[in-house]
Amino acid sequence: MPTTGGAAYIGPMTMTPTSTSFAVTERPERRSAEEIAQLLESPGFGNLFTEHMALIDWDREQGWHDPRVVPYGPIQLDPSAAVFHYAQEIFEGMKAYRHADGSIWTFRPERNAERFNASARRLAMPELPPTMFLDAIKEVVTVDQGWVPSADSGETSLYLRPFMIATEEALGVRPSNRYLFSVICSPAGAYFSGGLKPVSLWVSEHYVRAAAGGTGAAKCGGNYASSLASQAEGIEHGCDQVVFLDAQEHRYVEELGGMNLFFVYADGRVVTPELTGTILPGVTRSSLIELARERGLDVQERRFTIDEWREGVASGEITEVFACGTAAVITPVGRLAWNGGELEMAGGHELTLSLRQELLDIQYGRAEDRHGWLYKLV
Ligand SMILES: *Cc1c(COP(=O)(O)O)cnc(C)c1O
Repeated sequence: MPTTGGAAYIGPMTMTPTSTSFAVTERPERRSAEEIAQLLESPGFGNLFTEHMALIDWDREQGWHDPRVVPYGPIQLDPSAAVFHYAQEIFEGMKAYRHADGSIWTFRPERNAERFNASARRLAMPELPPTMFLDAIKEVVTVDQGWVPSADSGETSLYLRPFMIATEEALGVRPSNRYLFSVICSPAGAYFSGGLKPVSLWVSEHYVRAAAGGTGAAKCGGNYASSLASQAEGIEHGCDQVVFLDAQEHRYVEELGGMNLFFVYADGRVVTPELTGTILPGVTRSSLIELARERGLDVQERRFTIDEWREGVASGEITEVFACGTAAVITPVGRLAWNGGELEMAGGHELTLSLRQELLDIQYGRAEDRHGWLYKLV
């Protein structure tokens, strides 16, 4: 240990984070392994929840306090609670994966903890120490470990949803003086139950997702609320999802409502829209950039226009387009439609599928974790 003038060096690295101590109240009657197995047969996505949840309170006097794991159930709030009126709400989306030896892991959770705090700052909410964020996940997954699907079931996982809401009873427009942090867990089946299906995308010309200076880079419920009308428009036009363009010139491709985009060229270039502040910095996005670069591909983060997309597909220069995010991992894009036209991708998804496999193999412990991306939960 380096010393300065005889005094012991006390840097950030020497302050080992003390792990948070959660009070655990288990449900009096736990579900049996058989019952859980039956529920896990077709969990779908986001409709089934485990038996417990983690909670931590915050107020101005005490800061974060009372970390606990309690039976999953409704949260009682006053109708005037700030979250209901001014939407001070942020969240994260992660997964717990069971490996073949029974152990349970999650993927780059430090990134989610950092991003959660970046979202908190943007929404004028208190930051949560990353150790508390990680401990809350570890604690609830430990109590509900029986709900993490077995390794041999393929792509199933336990989806983790950390979130924070403003709970103060007051209609004044200002940051709340009280907040609740929680982690809930939902067993998730393979996102594409009938095999990998390319998605079709609708170009939203009328609506935007995020403008410069807005909340586009924060993971907040409000961004999703404002994307629902365009999503409905896309569905009316026979598309699965919406692709949003930049708010100023309506030319630059940004992302989908909840996934980042990649464009693959025949010559080995891979382009993804750069993080200009209006795009959510996906953990999947950044991991794929690394994996693609390690394969020797020329990955460019830059602004990318909707015309480049149309022309690149028409000329055959762009061979694959895919969307990515924690929930669906990687989804090939099959069709793009807009007011007055559409284009169909040629249908080769070679790189898309092989990157997808590489990432899944790391997450499920079937390939070496060269980057130290995995974090053991149980
Ligand atoms: C969560 C999210 C993503 C994907 O992020 P991951 O960290 O890869 O799951 C992309 N776009 C938006 C708008 C999101 O909310």
